[in-house]
Amino acid sequence: MNKHTIYTEVLVVGSGPAGFSAAYTAAKNGANVILVEQCGNVGGISTSGLMSHWAGSCASPIYNEILKRSAQESEGEFYNKITTIIDPEKLKTLYLEMLCAVGVRILLYTFACDAIMDGNAIKGVSVVNKSGFTDIYSDVIIDATGDGDIACKSGAEYFKGRETDGKMQPATIMFKVGGVCYEKAVFPPSFETLIETEKGELQSLGKKILPPPSGHVLLYKTTLPGIVTCNMTNCIEIDGTNADDLTKATITCRKQMDDIVKFLREYAPGFENCFIISSAPLIGVRETRHFKGEYVLTEEDILNAKVFEDYIVKDAHFNFDVHNISGAGLDKSGVQHGFKQNAGYTIPYRCLLPEKIENLLLCGRNISGTHMAHSNFRAMPICAGIGEAAGAAAAVAVKNKVSVRKVKSYEIRDLIFN
Ligand SMILES: Cc1cc2nc3c(=O)[nH]c(=O)nc-3n(C[C@H](O)[C@H](O)[C@H](O)COP(=O)(O)OP(=O)(O)OC[C@H]3O[C@@H](n4cnc5c(N)ncnc54)[C@H](O)[C@@H]3O)c2cc1C
Repeated sequence: MNKHTIYTEVLVVGSGPAGFSAAYTAAKNGANVILVEQCGNVGGISTSGLMSHWAGSCASPIYNEILKRSAQESEGEFYNKITTIIDPEKLKTLYLEMLCAVGVRILLYTFACDAIMDGNAIKGVSVVNKSGFTDIYSDVIIDATGDGDIACKSGAEYFKGRETDGKMQPATIMFKVGGVCYEKAVFPPSFETLIETEKGELQSLGKKILPPPSGHVLLYKTTLPGIVTCNMTNCIEIDGTNADDLTKATITCRKQMDDIVKFLREYAPGFENCFIISSAPLIGVRETRHFKGEYVLTEEDILNAKVFEDYIVKDAHFNFDVHNISGAGLDKSGVQHGFKQNAGYTIPYRCLLPEKIENLLLCGRNISGTHMAHSNFRAMPICAGIGEAAGAAAAVAVKNKVSVRKVKSYEIRDLIFN
C-alpha cells in the first residue's frame, strides 16, 4: 500500500466549534496548522449539523468574533445585527474565510483513523481520503472529533455516557421547514415551554401523537423568512462511536421526519403549509466518550462556579442539558430545574491534558468531565472557548519547543485574553 507522509507543527482533527477555534488560534499565533475534517464543510454540528443557535455563553474572544463577523456577513439582508441564531450556509463560508486568512491547511473529506504512537507519546495521525492513505506527523495533536476518536486510538483512558450505566444521551437529525407563517407561528425553545392551542397543549399533543421516542416539540426561528429549524427527531440507546448504531439512528430519525411535519401542519399554529427544505448531513450525537484528564470537571465545580488557578476558559454559562435517555423530552431527574447559578464557571487547563498520553490535547465536548458536567460544557460557545485555549496552548508549545503538558496556563491566558 502506497502511503504519503506529511509533517506539521499542529494537527487539529475535527472542525466543529472547538476544532475550528483551535486551528484558527494556533495559526494566528504563528504555528503551521493542518485541520482534518471528515465532512465537506468546516463547522461540525454548528454547520453540517444544521444547528439552530449558539446556546449559553463564555468569555471567549473567538466566539465573539464569530458572532460579530456572522452579523457583518448578513449585512443588507434579512438580519444584520449580532444574533446567536445560526445561518449554517453563511457560517460555513465564514469559517473557511477565517481559516484561509491565517494560513491553515484544511483537508476536507478526510477521515482520521489511527494514532501513530511512540510509547506513550502520540507522534501523528493516519488519515484516509481521495488521495489515499497519509500519515500526518505533528508536534502537537488536538483531538476535536467530539467523540475523541484519536485520544481513544492513542490509548487514553475513558468511559462512555453516564457513570452509573454507560447510557448516552439521544441522537437527533436536525432539519428545517419552509412555508411557515411567522406572524402566527409558535416557537417553543425548550421541553418545558407549554403552548396552548385550539387543539390542546402542544408538548402534550407531541407526546401523544408523534412516534416514540420522538415526542417533544422544539422549534427555532432562523434569520430567513418562513424558515424554522426543528430539533424534534430522537433516537435513544445508540452509541455514536459505532457505525452500525449511527446508521440505525439515521434511519430512525429520518423515518420520524414525515410524521413530525404532518404533526406540525395539523397542530402547530403557523405551520399549516410547512414543508421540509433541508436536513443535517451530519447526525447530531450529543454524548459518547469522557476521557480521564489530569482533572475531571464535575457538576459541583459548575454549581459552585469554581475559579481554578489554572483556568483557560472563563465565565462559562449554561444549564445542565441532559435529554431523556429512555424517551422524548427532558432527563427524568429534572436536573435542569435546580440550576440557579448565575456566576460563570471556569475550566482548568488540566481538563485538556489526558493522563499518560503526551503531545495530545483534548478539545471541545470530549475534554475530561463527568456525564453531568459534559451536558453543560457541550454548549457550542463553551466548546469554542475550549478550542481557543487548545490552539493557544499548542502555539506556545511549538514556539517554546516544549510539550503541551509543560505549557503554563498563564501563557495560554496571555494569548487569549490580553
Ligand atoms: C442535536 C443537537 C442539538 C444541539 N443543540 C445545541 C444548541 O442549540 N446550541 C448549542 O450551543 N449547542 C447545541 N448542541 C451541542 C453542540 O452542538 C455540540 O456539543 C458541539 O458542537 C460540540 O463541539 P465540538 O467542536 O466538540 O464537536 P462537533 O461539533 O461534534 O465537531 C466534531 C467534528 O469532528 C469531525 N470528526 C469526527 N470524527 C472524525 C474523524 N475520525 N476524522 C475526521 N473528522 C472527524 C466531525 O465531522 C465534526 O465536524 C447540540 C448538539 C446536538 C447533537
